[in-house]
Amino acid sequence: MADTQKKMILVTGGSGLVGHGIRLAAEAEPHEDEEFYFATSKDADLRDLEQTRALFAKVKPTHVIHLAARVGGLFANMNYKVEFLRENLLINDCVLQAAHEAGIDKVVSCLSTCIFPDKTTYPIDETMVHNGPPHRSNEGYALAKRLIDTANRCYNEQHGRHFTSVIPTNVFGPHDNYNLQNGHVLPALIHRAYNCKQSGEDFVIWGTGSPLRQFIYSKDLGKLFLWVLREYHESDPIILSVGEEDEVSIKQAAETVLSAIGFEGNVVQDTTKADGQFKKTASNAKLCALNPDFEFTPFEQAIQESVDWFVANYETARK
Ligand code: NDP
Repeated sequence: MADTQKKMILVTGGSGLVGHGIRLAAEAEPHEDEEFYFATSKDADLRDLEQTRALFAKVKPTHVIHLAARVGGLFANMNYKVEFLRENLLINDCVLQAAHEAGIDKVVSCLSTCIFPDKTTYPIDETMVHNGPPHRSNEGYALAKRLIDTANRCYNEQHGRHFTSVIPTNVFGPHDNYNLQNGHVLPALIHRAYNCKQSGEDFVIWGTGSPLRQFIYSKDLGKLFLWVLREYHESDPIILSVGEEDEVSIKQAAETVLSAIGFEGNVVQDTTKADGQFKKTASNAKLCALNPDFEFTPFEQAIQESVDWFVANYETARK
C-alpha cells in the first residue's frame, strides 16, 4: 500500500555537478516516501521528444527535477550560440511536454543568474528575469532558459500544473567541469592551483581580482532543490544563493583555493587580462523569507571539500 504513495523523482541531467549535489542531499537525509532516478544522456537524448517520452514511460516519475542542459563557460557560449539556443530550447520543450503528457504535477527546472538583463540595477531579484536583453555573449542560452519560466506559466494557467524554476548563482563542488578553457571560474582556479603546486610555477591571478561573485556549494544547492520540490509552491522562480554580504572577490576565491591546496609558491597578478563584469549581485531575500533556518556551508569548508575531491579524483575528473 505504502508503495502506491511513493514519490518517484526523475532528475534529468543527473550525472552533472548539480545532479551529484542533489544525490548527496537525498542520501544524507532520505525520506522514506521518495525514490530517485538520476538520468544521463545515455538514458535518453532529451532533444528528442520520442526518447524523452520513452524515458518517462520507463521511469514513471511522479515529480521531475529538470537539470539537463547544454552548459558551458563564456568561450563555449560565444562560439556555439546556435547549439546553445537550439539544444536548450529542444531539451526544455521535450521535458516539459513529456511531463505534462505523463500527468506530472510538479516539475522544478533550473535557470541561472546569467540569464538576467545585461543592463540592470542591483541587487537582481526574481521579478527582473524578462526586463531587458541578456548579455550578447550568451543570449542563446539565456533566452532558451528564460522561456522555461514562460512555459511554466503557460502549463500552469492552461492545465493547472505546478511547474516552477530555481535560479542558482555560480555553482561549484565535486564532479564539476575542471577544464581550464571551458570550466567556470572556481573549478578552473582549482585546476590551475593544482598544476602550479605540481610544477612549482607561479600562480597567476588573472585581471585585478576585484570582481565580486556569489558562489553556492553544490551540496547546499542539492538540499535547497529538495526543499523547493517539497515545500515551495509558487510558479514564479526563486533565487538560490548566499546573501549579498557573502559575495567574494575573485582574489579572495583564489587565495582560499591556494590555501586549501597547500600552495606555497609565488602569487602574481596579470592585470593585462580582462576582469569581466564587476558584479552580478543577486538578492536571496525571498529564500530567506521562506526558508529562514537554512544554513550554508562556510565558503572555506566547501572549497576545501571540493579541492580534496579534485585531488583524490584527478585521473577521472572532467577536465
Ligand atoms: P553539467 O554539465 O555538469 O551536467 C549537464 C547534465 O545534462 C549532464 O547530466 C548531461 O548528461 C545532461 N545532458 C546534457 N545534454 C543532454 C541531452 N541532450 N540529453 C540528456 N541529457 C543531457 O551541468 P551542471 O550540473 O553544472 O548544470 C545543471 C543545471 O544547472 C543546468 O540546467 C544549468 O544551466 C544550471 N546551472 C548551472 C550553474 C553552474 O554554475 N554550473 C549555474 C546556474 C545554473 P551526460 O553526463 O550524460 O552528458
